[in-house]
Amino acid sequence: MTYDVIIVGGGHNGLVAACYLAKSGLKTLVLEGREVVGGGAVTEELHPGFRCSGLDHAAGPVSSQVVADLNLARHGLEMITPEARVLALSPDGKSLCIYNDVGRTVSEIDKFSKNDAKVYPEFVNSFSRIGRVLAPLLSMTPPSIDQPTKTDLWQLGKVGLAFRGLGKKDEYRLLRWAPMAVADLVSEWFETELLRATVAARGIHGAFAGPWSAGTSLGLLWQAAMDGSAFGSASYPKGGMGGLGQALATAAKAAGAEIRTSARVAQISDAYGDNPKLMLEGGEEIGSRVVVSNADPRTTFLKLVDPIDLEPNFLLKMRNYRAPGVVAKLNLALDALPAFRGVDDTAKLSGRIHIGHEIDYLERAFDASKYGDFSSNPYLDINIPSLGDPSLAPAGKHVMSIHVQFAPYKLRQGDWTTRRDEFASNVIDKLEAYAPGLREMIVASQVITPLDLEQKYGLSGGHIHHGEQTLDQFFTFRPLIGWAQYRTPLKRLYLCGAGTHPGGGLTGLPGANAAREIARDFKERKV
Ligand SMILES: Cc1cc2nc3c(=O)[nH]c(=O)nc-3n(C[C@H](O)[C@H](O)[C@H](O)COP(=O)(O)OP(=O)(O)OC[C@H]3O[C@@H](n4cnc5c(N)ncnc54)[C@H](O)[C@@H]3O)c2cc1C
Repeated sequence: MTYDVIIVGGGHNGLVAACYLAKSGLKTLVLEGREVVGGGAVTEELHPGFRCSGLDHAAGPVSSQVVADLNLARHGLEMITPEARVLALSPDGKSLCIYNDVGRTVSEIDKFSKNDAKVYPEFVNSFSRIGRVLAPLLSMTPPSIDQPTKTDLWQLGKVGLAFRGLGKKDEYRLLRWAPMAVADLVSEWFETELLRATVAARGIHGAFAGPWSAGTSLGLLWQAAMDGSAFGSASYPKGGMGGLGQALATAAKAAGAEIRTSARVAQISDAYGDNPKLMLEGGEEIGSRVVVSNADPRTTFLKLVDPIDLEPNFLLKMRNYRAPGVVAKLNLALDALPAFRGVDDTAKLSGRIHIGHEIDYLERAFDASKYGDFSSNPYLDINIPSLGDPSLAPAGKHVMSIHVQFAPYKLRQGDWTTRRDEFASNVIDKLEAYAPGLREMIVASQVITPLDLEQKYGLSGGHIHHGEQTLDQFFTFRPLIGWAQYRTPLKRLYLCGAGTHPGGGLTGLPGANAAREIARDFKERKV
């Protein structure tokens, strides 16, 4: 047996886990199926001289604890945080910029509604206070429901105390908001439709849900736990998202881990016993004391593990684990910076750009995917990273990264191979209405459909977060009740990816939490 730990997948969580495990003295190997590590955190050459974040475009944000523990700055990670978080565009040519700075944002909102401008600071403060209470949950291993340990109870007790410290008003808000439809939540705060839709969009980002779906406010609360704001981060690394993947790979190697790319695992066998083995596509076999899967739960249990190794009941639950992908990606290389109607200041374009000006617009965009079609009027989340990092494109030229929602994994008519161009053309038409002349600026484009996300990037169902992040697939239920502590029914197989708590986004936390549990099992000689 050569390795203590083999990690299947070199996504950012796999790499974070590799760093911590190698640092704790375990002989660790990462096997990444693609030719490049990073998973969602990759920068790819779109066209000679144009480099773009292939999938993700704004970091989760990455946990500050992980950044400090792994010394990522020393390993090359340099974050760019634009002053503008999100610029919301309206088809009538109006726009609303949400800055990190509350005062500047209030001035922007004031142009739309005096009342909204007045309540906005309280909205921000309330999410920030609630976020602070929820934040410790992120780096916690969810407690066992059946047999909570003393540590589980102690940790939960601490969160309970912090909850009591919120005060009655915020306590009620937290309890009430989590199961609420995000459309209801925003309409309790604001009267400006553009502002409502911009906030609500974050509740449905990546989800098979519209703003009127129950439980979508949870996305805002979780976002607030991650960085204190309901709006979602706009930070990204220098060099694009690959800057994170590369810094983690350098840190993992410095800690002693080995990394192999173009090494796709075809099978995990004997993980219930003492000698688990991995078989690579091509037939090579490698043994390890422990296997950690960074692949999503459905890929891990329904593709890589022999079903005969698993209890039928567990298999049934895993088959019911929901991962219906609804996001596609369009990356553009542009000859110049597009001019957006009604936007006078380029700095406003430096964060994320939101298209989806009304709650009903977002709901209708979702409707299409319910019936197996992509939206003709999609919700778009856009970033132009070359504005903050000119090294990504030749001088004066730009790259644009576009998340397109809703684009269902399965189309009712035709398929993604035949409808790819029609899909891209529709998105460009949509953009053209906000940025006239954009089509003429396109030097090259890349379309990544949910089917590509499954086939090329290994995401089952094309789901960007390794599975829906709804209340029933959350915290102690992620991925399944009874299996939320990174362990699995197979004694020597663990999970460390976004399908575990605290879920998707470039945070590094599932990887860090999993590594802590695995290192403990080694220490206590359980494996
Ligand atoms: C289009 C898109 C846009 C997104 N935008 C954002 C964003 O802007 N901000 C944000 O925070 N999050 C975003 N996300 C979500 C984010 O990418 C994920 O939550 C995050 O990547 C999860 O990290 P991970 O390490 O757990 O898994 P992944 O990044 O999925 O990495 C898993 C790795 O395992 C590898 N793998 C899978 N199967 C095998 C196998 N059999 N053998 C070997 N290797 C294997 C894969 O190739 C991959 O490298 C986006 C995701 C997508 C798809």
